[in-house]
Amino acid sequence: MRSYCGKQRKVTECLPGSETYVTTRNGRKVMKCKCVECGITKTKFVKGTAGKGLILGKHSPFNKIPILGAIL
Ligand SMILES: [Zn+2]
Repeated sequence: MRSYCGKQRKVTECLPGSETYVTTRNGRKVMKCKCVECGITKTKFVKGTAGKGLILGKHSPFNKIPILGAIL
């Protein structure tokens, strides 16, 4: 996966196999991985909340509703 490296200030690849997913206290999902170029741990917010509210994205049940799916 590609994510933003705060040290190099650019988007770099993750070291394969280093990706770990963490859910923060406020229910947001964070992906952590090692930068393949400089080795620091990068963090990236990923879609998919464990909490309430609309579930958007590829597997959203709302995508099955044609009109709503088009808006989203
Ligand atoms: Zn880096």
